[in-house]
Amino acid sequence: MSEATLSPKRGWDSERAPVLLTCRLLFPKSESGRLFCFPAPGMKPRRGRRLKENTMIELLEAPTVVDFVEKEEGRHVVYTFQGRTFRLDKEKARARIAGKRVINGLKSAELNVLPLKYHEAYRIYKQMKANHWEPDVIDMTKDCATWNSNKLNARERWIIEMGVGYFSAAEGIVGDSVLHVIEDNLTAAELKHASLRQIAEESIHMDSLLHIIGSLNIDLDEVTAKFQDIPSIQKKNAYITRHMPELKMGIDLTQTANKQKFAKALFGITQVMEGTQFYALFAMILSLHRQNKMTGIGQMFQYTLRDESNHIALGRYILTQLIEENPDIWTPEFRSELVEFMREGIELEKEFVLDCLPEDSVGMTQKDFLDYVDYNADRRLESLGLPRLSTVKANPFLWLDEVIFLKKEKNFFETRVTEYQTSGSVKNTNEDDLI
Ligand code: MN
Ligand code: FE
Repeated sequence: MSEATLSPKRGWDSERAPVLLTCRLLFPKSESGRLFCFPAPGMKPRRGRRLKENTMIELLEAPTVVDFVEKEEGRHVVYTFQGRTFRLDKEKARARIAGKRVINGLKSAELNVLPLKYHEAYRIYKQMKANHWEPDVIDMTKDCATWNSNKLNARERWIIEMGVGYFSAAEGIVGDSVLHVIEDNLTAAELKHASLRQIAEESIHMDSLLHIIGSLNIDLDEVTAKFQDIPSIQKKNAYITRHMPELKMGIDLTQTANKQKFAKALFGITQVMEGTQFYALFAMILSLHRQNKMTGIGQMFQYTLRDESNHIALGRYILTQLIEENPDIWTPEFRSELVEFMREGIELEKEFVLDCLPEDSVGMTQKDFLDYVDYNADRRLESLGLPRLSTVKANPFLWLDEVIFLKKEKNFFETRVTEYQTSGSVKNTNEDDLI
């Protein structure tokens, strides 16, 4: 691995690099440059050293460096980038890069993705593009048959309705906030570019909910009315959006207090909401999928979850770059404020989990779900160098990582037909299979 891959300038979190390096030594690299946590097909797990249980596949993904070479030629600078060549005036290029900032940078109407400063954002953009999927071609025939039969118990039907109802509102909140709060305030072109791709993906997620509602003939008004009576949902949404109106007005981001408000919103949307508050419901729906129930919905949620992991990574990257450029943000008080914000997010999420799952069901216990909330929250905090809040060390749903991981290796356009046949066949992962 080259030095450049691990350089913080490339956006790779140096705190995570040792994990990555350890894994490099232990695991083979796939053709796509990703690392396998689970033994690759035909490969025997090596014994001796074991990964810690809480080492997530997400952390093991190697940063694929965007192929970007820069060479000076007379008064020009030549960039070779993704197999294409760009010739830029050296002086202008220098001025552009000097003016690139996460916030408060040079604003220009010209296309100024080049020269690239935030490489990791461009890499995430490419990853998002590679994961493109379309909801309305996902076959819902089996789901309709199951939905109209007596194969689902009342609890399982409730989980599907909860999934549709909660995410219908939540995807909208995220899309709107990323557009008006995050993207609007960013000034570097490649960051705006990646952010706009995220917004497009939130629209795809909303479209997937429409596909579900339309296919199953769910009465949207009835489902919406049910949610209005659930305080945990209302509280969760109000908590995330309470600071948004002010940020949407366009505040002066040269002031530290305002920069902190922006940083907190970025943290709230991508690390608390997408990174922590989405996962338990995803797990409930995917556990139905694992039992071969509602596999079309399961398929869509797998793709959505895969997208979310990029949104979380992008948010974390923008936040770390913002802090690097504006160290005045990162005071001890502000760090505790973020931790407290996450603590409140966890409490609300646990209330929500208990509303979704008043008793042990879908083959899993309530405690596992509550632990899963803590586990995800701690990962988000740790990835930003913030202290953990719980003592939960192990991921209670290792099987879910496997599902997410497998999907990451698949291309929607190449595999969607066969996946209809294989969905639901993902086996439980024996912890001993991990090395
Ligand atoms: Mn989404
Ligand atoms: Fe998202």
